[in-house]
Amino acid sequence: MKRVFNFSAGPSALPLPVLERAAAEMTCANGTGQSVMEMSHRSKDFKPIIEKTEALLRELMGIPKNYQVLFLQGGASLQFSMIPLNLAAGESGAPRKKAAYIDTGVWAKKAAEEGAKYADVRVRASSKDRAYTYIPQAPAPEPDDAYYHITLNNTIVGTKWAALPETSAVPLAADVSSCILSEELDVSRFGILYAGAQKNLGPAGVTVVIIREDLIGHAPSWTPALLRYDIHASEGSLYNTPPCYGIYITGLVLEWLKDSGGVSAMARRNREKADLFYACLEKSRLFRSPVEKPFRSLMNIPFICTLEDAEKRAELEARFVKEAAAAGLVNLAGHRLVGGMRASIYNAMPIEGVQALIQFIEAFER
Ligand SMILES: *Cc1c(COP(=O)(O)O)cnc(C)c1O
Repeated sequence: MKRVFNFSAGPSALPLPVLERAAAEMTCANGTGQSVMEMSHRSKDFKPIIEKTEALLRELMGIPKNYQVLFLQGGASLQFSMIPLNLAAGESGAPRKKAAYIDTGVWAKKAAEEGAKYADVRVRASSKDRAYTYIPQAPAPEPDDAYYHITLNNTIVGTKWAALPETSAVPLAADVSSCILSEELDVSRFGILYAGAQKNLGPAGVTVVIIREDLIGHAPSWTPALLRYDIHASEGSLYNTPPCYGIYITGLVLEWLKDSGGVSAMARRNREKADLFYACLEKSRLFRSPVEKPFRSLMNIPFICTLEDAEKRAELEARFVKEAAAAGLVNLAGHRLVGGMRASIYNAMPIEGVQALIQFIEAFER
């Protein structure tokens, strides 16, 4: 069967050369006579795979030496718990530290709610008043904040921070699940970065954490071993069995990204794709972007029908999603919490996919 253009927000499309290479190596990887799925995570066969994946990520993102790279499980969502546990929780009976959060949508809110179980969470700004269609002004941190948490790209509403907040000595913690490697990022501006792999990095099941070394080793003694950064860091992500196959595929995606010109080339392509699509929405009489211009995401582009009548609107949106799928443009329905449509155009989406969607929109309008 012909491959479709997959606009899913996650798990999402992977580069075809990566899938083809994985298929070719499925039963025998690197001349070992084994699939990567069958390898011991402590074997001499797997070691170069995890080492190569880390080295490529360090090279592509320019990760400074004083940061550790961890390959964990539990998704981005487990980082909503691990960050406050490791950076702000107290020993039994001792007070918790304060932590600043900016509420820019569903994931940011979840991070703050989970964080409040272990940290003294202070939500310092929110864009909820206008349905999260913008990024609010970020107030300066308080000097005793343990960290300052943001969601750099908001997958569901399609906003992104146009500039990073100034947090002086307070470590900036950022969820970069849906924008990692989409544009250049100065890692040294952050204390900790984390991303579930299934948007821009690889398959579901791996979570990448990039953490500055001075932030490791502050978890209270009651913290479960598997949730401690210091244990994962000292064991090189091999304290227990890591998501081996996902790490391998992530390595292949990073190789593909490097061969495609690295992050700057990817960013250029991503801006070109997003510009084309936003221009199409600007021109459209039937659809528009609900997001305020300075904050529009390059990766996730929601769009809504402009019809006044709610019933007609819902009918037309459903018809759009259905007919698009029949034309090989799949997963264009918006998130179940916000409705409408959404095109997620991560690194692996070729410009041809965006052009095909634009042509479909123009034909649909006619
Ligand atoms: C998808 C997503 C999550 C949730 O990721 P899981 O890996 O399913 O826990 C969290 N934050 C952002 C920004 C996301 O896009």
